[in-house]
Amino acid sequence: MAVETVVATPEVNDPWINAQRQFDAAADVLHLEPGIRAILREPQRELSVNFPVRMDDGSIEVFRGYRVQHNVTRGPAKGGIRFHPQVTLNEVRALSMWMTWKCAVAGIPFGGAKGGVIVDPSRLSRDELERLTRRYATEISLLIGADRDIPAPDVNTTPQVMAWIMDTVSMSEGYSIPAVVTGKPLSVGGSEGRNAATGRGCAMVAHQVCGRLGLDPRRLTVAVQGFGNVGSIAATLMAEDGFSIRAASDAFGGIHSDRPLDIPALVEHTRKSGSVVGFPGTRAVTNAELLELPVDVLVPAALENQITAANAGRVQAKLVLEGANGPTTPDAEEILIRRGVTVVPDIVTNAGGVIVSYFEWVQDLQSFFWSESEINKRLGRILTKAFDSSWEASERLGVPLRLGAYAVAVQRVADATTDRGIFP
Ligand code: NAD
Repeated sequence: MAVETVVATPEVNDPWINAQRQFDAAADVLHLEPGIRAILREPQRELSVNFPVRMDDGSIEVFRGYRVQHNVTRGPAKGGIRFHPQVTLNEVRALSMWMTWKCAVAGIPFGGAKGGVIVDPSRLSRDELERLTRRYATEISLLIGADRDIPAPDVNTTPQVMAWIMDTVSMSEGYSIPAVVTGKPLSVGGSEGRNAATGRGCAMVAHQVCGRLGLDPRRLTVAVQGFGNVGSIAATLMAEDGFSIRAASDAFGGIHSDRPLDIPALVEHTRKSGSVVGFPGTRAVTNAELLELPVDVLVPAALENQITAANAGRVQAKLVLEGANGPTTPDAEEILIRRGVTVVPDIVTNAGGVIVSYFEWVQDLQSFFWSESEINKRLGRILTKAFDSSWEASERLGVPLRLGAYAVAVQRVADATTDRGIFP
């Protein structure tokens, strides 16, 4: 199957510029002291690594990877690892900054980080993927650690990849350190509910925003871009909540129906065939077309820069739930807001993942594990608080929801910075 190429327009090709622009808007609203603003505007630490991997045919390939810690003022750095051919340092910087705000708005005691390797994992064998993961983990072991920086899954990284990272770090120390990474399989100290947590959080936030807007989920149609971990689970749980999912897509293309999609059957179809494409009873749409379908709710759950100034005017949904990180550019958001669209920002919509990662880390440190229902209850409490405080800040300040969420988050990190003082 051919992978669709998504062409970014000039205004949106740099997630880091967009991330800094979003931060600047919050710093302006908060009248942040210039010194604090200068600190929070840049990543604290950046590591670039070039490392060899022996391929199955005996040849050696050198891969480039990154680990960026944007800020560790509120606690150890936290953030996923992405394996993707289009990873760039600026993308990792942006993702690490977004993690800082996400942990802060959720009120969990972490800073922000992110990692990435420039690789298309679909062209690697399982053994090559394992060797790449273990070598990358070794290279970034300068930074990661259970009390320093704790990775997790992101695009194209799975619980298995997390288990290899946990094992690699543990082998070099000589004892098992489950808390060095989250999103692990249950067999090695993973948490109940972690795999579904990001999608579950999206569905919880969808329900909450509908409550605030006086909308009934049973009357709302939805398109989901990206049917991976986040998108497929968000779709499953939103369908259970009454939303009518009409379209879904992945890197190979999309599907659309005038009737509600049978989401469990679509999940099964995707598991078997590797894509949503060809799901019976649907018509094919491209990823670009999916974003402009006549639906009420759009859930971008793939990559950055999908809703841009070029297509925002054609988005028909009245509600955008950012399952992905950075799917809406700042220019696009201005257009959407002007058109009366509510955009629920990534740092709230997809915070469920890092919240349950926090639970996993706490459980690993205590060697004491909680039930799934306990975890989902705690997730609901934290996420509701994050959503409510963002909503209330946006009303109080008279700004869009993203800026409300940022105001809460940036103020918390600024306060922590001021309270700690500037060393030395
Ligand atoms: P994943 O690898 O499980 O799924 C990604 C999905 O997007 C796949 O269906 C893939 O085919 C599709 N995709 C890739 N490129 C695409 C393109 N150009 N157009 C359309 N679809 C494309 O990854 P995931 O973990 O679901 O992550 C998706 C998004 O959610 C990312 O932005 C990620 O940073 C964010 N996120 C993930 C988590 C988590 O816990 N996994 C937490 C917070 C945020």
